[in-house]
Amino acid sequence: MRTIFNRSRVRRFISVTAGVALAIALGKLDARQGQTPATQTPQPAAGAPAQGQRGGQNQQPAAARNNAAEQGAVRNAEGAIIGFTALAEIPGTPWRIHDIARPHPRVITPGATPGAAPSDAIVLFDGKDLSKWVSARGGQDAAWPVKDGYFETGAGSGSIVTREKFGDVQLHVEFATPSPGRGSSQDRGNSGVRFMDRYEVQVLDSYENVTYADGQAAAIYGEYPPLVNAARKPGEWQTYDIVFEAPKFNGATLLAPAYITVFWNGVLVQHRRPVMGSTSATTTQHSYTPHDPELPLALQDHNHPVHYRNIWIRRLAGYDLPEGK
Ligand code: MG
Repeated sequence: MRTIFNRSRVRRFISVTAGVALAIALGKLDARQGQTPATQTPQPAAGAPAQGQRGGQNQQPAAARNNAAEQGAVRNAEGAIIGFTALAEIPGTPWRIHDIARPHPRVITPGATPGAAPSDAIVLFDGKDLSKWVSARGGQDAAWPVKDGYFETGAGSGSIVTREKFGDVQLHVEFATPSPGRGSSQDRGNSGVRFMDRYEVQVLDSYENVTYADGQAAAIYGEYPPLVNAARKPGEWQTYDIVFEAPKFNGATLLAPAYITVFWNGVLVQHRRPVMGSTSATTTQHSYTPHDPELPLALQDHNHPVHYRNIWIRRLAGYDLPEGK
């Protein structure tokens, strides 16, 4: 009897201990799942229907309701799930999957038509004047001729630069090379979009006009030919949509090169190429000289009357900015 009684007590002790341990473990798990990286955590609305189940909770299987609750589902006033507090962590971020606390991107208004400036763009040329530009030579007002909604490179008058300075940007620019085309190779519809007045995406008449590959239209000059030649004919309007990431320096040390991505007439032709350095040097290897994080954008005068219109630019900021920024 004594032995049996002891065994029974031992068994009960083990059972209780295991139960407590399990409860602690579950408690810890619950606590971990309940952690949210951000400050505000709206509470799950009790008894509200799950997304796509507007008929109310009675129409949901109990298991589904419990599952949503365990996942920390948060619902809006209509009962739709608008986030979670307890799904898996997203590695390398402070966020969980579908995190209710993750900031929502700010709202902008896209352009009314393809290629039109979105509401957060800085319009650098709207068809009327060159007030956003100055001469690269002396800093006086840009004097390139403005005509019917476009302007023309003032052949021989020198390049122009924006009054404003930029670092990481998205740029939209439209251009047309002279028609009829004259000259050949580099001597035909040559201009250029020079980010920070250093890193050039070539503008050239590359319609049935052969030149060195890394100097044709949409080349990162002297470094990368475009992936394909998407040139339109002389006189036809063409588009560049470019993402430029400025190089990063720490004093004299290059931390990260510039990167350039180009869509030419809607076609990807430069896929985040790391720029080797200032593209102005052609007789020596391209290299970097440390400079300010923001510098003016330049359009190159190469002695050819290239036309430009509809130019806008957007400063690029990071992901997950606090709401309202
Ligand atoms: Mg050029």
